[in-house]
Amino acid sequence: MGVQLQTREHCPICTNRKTRTLHQQSFSSPILRQFLADFYQGRADLEALASGSYRIAKCQTCSFIYQTSVLNDEGLSALYGDWVDAEASLAKKQNARAKLFRQYAGQMETLSRLFPCPPQQVHLLEFGMGWGYWSRMAQAFGFRVNGLELSPQRAEHARSMGIAVVDELPDAGPHYHFIYANQVFEHLVKPLQTLQQLQSILIPDGLIYLRVPDGRDIEKTLQRSGWHSNLDAIHPLEHINCFTRTSLLELASRAGLEQVQPPLRLNLRSLWGGIKREYSDRFVTTHIYFKNK
Ligand SMILES: [Zn+2]
Repeated sequence: MGVQLQTREHCPICTNRKTRTLHQQSFSSPILRQFLADFYQGRADLEALASGSYRIAKCQTCSFIYQTSVLNDEGLSALYGDWVDAEASLAKKQNARAKLFRQYAGQMETLSRLFPCPPQQVHLLEFGMGWGYWSRMAQAFGFRVNGLELSPQRAEHARSMGIAVVDELPDAGPHYHFIYANQVFEHLVKPLQTLQQLQSILIPDGLIYLRVPDGRDIEKTLQRSGWHSNLDAIHPLEHINCFTRTSLLELASRAGLEQVQPPLRLNLRSLWGGIKREYSDRFVTTHIYFKNK
C-alpha cells in the first residue's frame, strides 16, 4: 500500500465525530512543504502526503485537540525509521548534561518511595523506550526493567546496554508494578486503546506515568497568530494528539486510571525550586502519575 495518510473520523478520546477546525492547510502548501523538507532533511516522502491536509480539529464533545490526518502503519514506520534523524537523536542522549540523569535519578527516588520494597521485586516497563537511557538508570537502581520500542535501531542500542527489550506487550494480567511512557502518547493513532492495554497489564495497585507536551493555549495561539512550525504540541505528523492536563486526566479516566500524587521530594539546599516544581507537577503540568481505579 505504501506511505499514505488516513483520516481519524472519531475523537481519539471520547469517540464522538463532531469537530471544529482550528487550522487546516494542504501538505502541499509551500510553507508546510518547506518545513517538512527542512525538518526531515529531504528524507520525508512529500509526494505521498501531497493530496492530504494537515488539519487541527477540536472535538465538540470533549474539547480534545488532535490532527485528523495521520500516517498509516507504513507511513509511521517510514517517519520514525527513516525520516527522523536517528543519529542526531542518539547524539542528543549521548551528549546529555548531567541534569538529565539527575532528573532520571530523582524519578527513581520517587519510585522507591512509591514501592517501598526491595527494588528487585518491582517490575517496570518503559513503553516507547527510545535509546534506553531511562531504563538503564532504572536498572542501576536495582529495578527489574523491560523496555518496549518499535524502532529496531533504538531497541538494538538499548539491548547493547543490557536492557531486557520486549517486542510486544504481554496478554492482560498482573505483569508490571509501574509503566513509564515519556513523550509517547502524543504520537499514538489510538491513544485510548493503547492506554487500556497498558492498564490491563498492571498489578491491581500498579502505577502508570505519562508525560506529553503541554498543549494548553494552542487554540488561542492559532486564533491569534495562525500556525507556526515552532508550535511543538501540534508538530505535523508527529504530535497528532495535543494534550492539556485536563484531557490527559480524561484519557486516563476512560482507561480506568486515576491521578495519584507522588510523595513530596524536597531538599533544603533548593527548597524554593523544589516547592515550585512540586506545585507545578501536582496541579499544572502534563506529566502525571496514575493508578488503577
Ligand atoms: Zn472528544
